[in-house]
Amino acid sequence: MQDNIINELYQVIGKENVLTDKEDLICYSYDATSYSHLPEVVVVPSSAEEISLVLKVANKHRMPVVARGGGTNLCGASVPIKGGIVLAMHRLNKIIEIDGDNLVATVEAGVNTEKFQQAVEAKGLFYPPDPQSAKMSTMGGNVAQNAGGPRGFKYGVTRDFVLGMKVVLADGTILDIGGKTIKNVTGYDLTKFFTGSEGTLGVIIAITFRLLPLPEAKKTMLAVFGDLMDGARTISSIVKNKIIPVTLEMMDQETMGLIEKSKPVGLPTDAAAAILIEVDGSEHEVERQMKKIEKVARAEGATDVVVARTEEEAAKLWEGRKAAFGCMALSAVTPITEDATVPRSKLPEMVKFIKDVAKKYSLSIPVLGHTGDGNLHPIICTDENNLEEMERVEKAIDEIFKETLRLGGTLSGEHGIGLAKQKYMELEVGQDGLNLMRQLKKAVDPNNILNPGKIFLQETEQINEKA
Ligand SMILES: Cc1cc2nc3c(=O)[nH]c(=O)nc-3n(C[C@H](O)[C@H](O)[C@H](O)COP(=O)(O)OP(=O)(O)OC[C@H]3O[C@@H](n4cnc5c(N)ncnc54)[C@H](O)[C@@H]3O)c2cc1C
Repeated sequence: MQDNIINELYQVIGKENVLTDKEDLICYSYDATSYSHLPEVVVVPSSAEEISLVLKVANKHRMPVVARGGGTNLCGASVPIKGGIVLAMHRLNKIIEIDGDNLVATVEAGVNTEKFQQAVEAKGLFYPPDPQSAKMSTMGGNVAQNAGGPRGFKYGVTRDFVLGMKVVLADGTILDIGGKTIKNVTGYDLTKFFTGSEGTLGVIIAITFRLLPLPEAKKTMLAVFGDLMDGARTISSIVKNKIIPVTLEMMDQETMGLIEKSKPVGLPTDAAAAILIEVDGSEHEVERQMKKIEKVARAEGATDVVVARTEEEAAKLWEGRKAAFGCMALSAVTPITEDATVPRSKLPEMVKFIKDVAKKYSLSIPVLGHTGDGNLHPIICTDENNLEEMERVEKAIDEIFKETLRLGGTLSGEHGIGLAKQKYMELEVGQDGLNLMRQLKKAVDPNNILNPGKIFLQETEQINEKA
């Protein structure tokens, strides 16, 4: 990067908040995928005003700017593939207000997700979206990716809780949109426009979220199956029977085996599948739902249904589930997490298809996911250095996405497009849909400085360049 640009950044944000050492740049060059690329500079702002000034400099010099939260995304979204500036958001880490009278909270974008959940719960309130990366992810990153999580089945995803936002546009304009009211139809819904935009439309500074009262009771149970398809059918059957637990998380035998190898929590590794189910509500409602769920699961072939007796037992099972991606990363050089999501009634068909594809291409593809939402996470455990295997992986991914769309599903339930799924975008949204998205992007970022190279198919020669 030219010295004059660095000097301008020093002036607007202070030399101490501008990092250019290679060691620092490496720390901001990757995310939770295997993509990586060095930024030219990292800036560490602490306010909307500073970010506005940084964006004015970047816009003047047509420098790419990539906002970065926890760097936990699973699609290459925060990798600065065009170099430029990474905006590290961790100094914007204040919970501005938890407003119990209005059941809303306002936080800065760099606030850690788990810390926010805990702060809200300490006041008897509840923020349901629960990406399994909550220990590391940020609220700004959650909004920019429209993160989901297991509780999405009952409560919805991040988008369903966003009421208002402060955002900085590419030209440095600071915008306040939405607010504390649950209802707001004053013009276009700009909060939804920025939610899920992967840092390509604006930099999110602060967000106001809707909250719920903390449910009176909750219980966790594990339904165990001798046949994977019995598990998949149980999910569809629970939905068909109009029961809405908080979570329906299926794990197949391979997934449970990998979890138990690295983080033993007592999962039944001899079973073909298990579903981790949480129910919440009043004590009475929890008991009633658990009985109904057990009945449906047993009717579909569950060999056992175990209820966690204490909060510690329940927490242990959830720890295992949360560790699943990490355990796979320990067992494979390159774990590729997919995010195929189908209408819930199509879940058994999709699970069978993935397992058939794994067999066809001789690949290891453990399947887990927020299955209550039809949101599957097949994880292709491979090695990017094995070029012959990578060819089979590409073919398997291709088939999985095409079948997902054929069944009326979507490429991404919650992980986003980033770099990973660009080439399939047109298949889902069509050329007209893509054109409209490109026009919207151009309207707010005419110089294409905000996270360029993401979502839309671009030249890819730089993508896998290593730091
Ligand atoms: C172990 C593990 C489990 C996971 N489980 C889930 C899950 O259950 N559900 C789920 O949905 N996802 C899950 N994820 C994916 C990931 O955690 C989420 O996408 C999360 O929302 C990313 O947040 P982050 O703060 O890490 O954002 P980053 O990865 O830093 O950034 C993600 C995107 O948001 C943009 N961005 C970040 N901050 C801002 C900002 N302030 N303004 C504008 N743009 C911004 C970045 O430019 C990038 O495009 C998981 C990931 C891992 C590693």
